[in-house]
Amino acid sequence: ATPLAIVVGTGKGATNGILFRNAEAIETARRIDTAVLDKTGTITAGHPVLTDVVALDGQDPDDLLALVAAAEADSEHPLATAIVAGARDRGIRIPAASRFQSVTGQGVQATVDGHEVLIGNTRLLAGARVQTGVLAERAAALAADGKTAVLLAVDGLPAGLVGVADPVKEDSAAGVTALHDLGLQVVMITGDARRTAEAVARRVGIDRVLAEVRPEDKAAEVARLQAEGRRVGMVGDGINDAPALAQADVGLAIGTGTDVAIESADVTLMSGSLAGIPTTIRLSRATMRNIR
Ligand code: ADP
Ligand code: MG
Repeated sequence: ATPLAIVVGTGKGATNGILFRNAEAIETARRIDTAVLDKTGTITAGHPVLTDVVALDGQDPDDLLALVAAAEADSEHPLATAIVAGARDRGIRIPAASRFQSVTGQGVQATVDGHEVLIGNTRLLAGARVQTGVLAERAAALAADGKTAVLLAVDGLPAGLVGVADPVKEDSAAGVTALHDLGLQVVMITGDARRTAEAVARRVGIDRVLAEVRPEDKAAEVARLQAEGRRVGMVGDGINDAPALAQADVGLAIGTGTDVAIESADVTLMSGSLAGIPTTIRLSRATMRNIR
């Protein structure tokens, strides 16, 4: 039979917008000593906004943005949504693209107005042997600001970049502080560039950053921390977080996230706020104290 304390604890959780999948979830949460937080949509709002457009060689930034938006129009990535919305807001006519291809965790490729365009991170462009050196300084400046730099190559040559900002949630820093107060180490995991990730991490007080992690490698990074003897609570919102949520000692899904993340998690935080994590741990500790 389920001890009454667990029934009560689970009920208290529900009242506070914390849904435990089963008794094991509320029993285990108190043991977490490391919180691994996805960046986009977990620490940040997950609604990025286009902020900068930089064209090389005196080209018209509006023309560059039209090319980028055309290629991104078929992508479902939040960065793509931000870029297309930004182009529309600026009254730019977006041409049609063909031969669209998405490269998971890197960017997109398409043909626009007869040109081969490649849009994404340094890894994507480097993989296609595009020399990204001329873009490096501008990309670094955006990243130092916590923005994601999305690079553009046209017919194999670097052409410019756009900057996208995803503001941190209002209460993320307080959530990290509360986790520190409970004695946890707080780690950020993201597919985004190292410098961007570190700038965001500094803003909210994160201890350790795992950046440029490919979606399929997030679960392996969690397993590595577990091999160091850590008990990991993984917090995420996206499809790409699902395997890592399942791998963790306790997987916590942000309630505003995708169904796949919620299904893979042991705990769902309905509020979408990081504050739900310390509350989960405190609730688990209090509940188990009532049993022994
Ligand atoms: P995250 O873990 O931050 O949710 P993803 O794994 O989805 O990130 O993507 C990792 C990186 O790949 C992004 O930060 C971006 O640089 C690049 N990327 C992925 N999809 C796109 C896209 N459609 N357009 C431009 N860049 C992209
Ligand atoms: Mg995410």
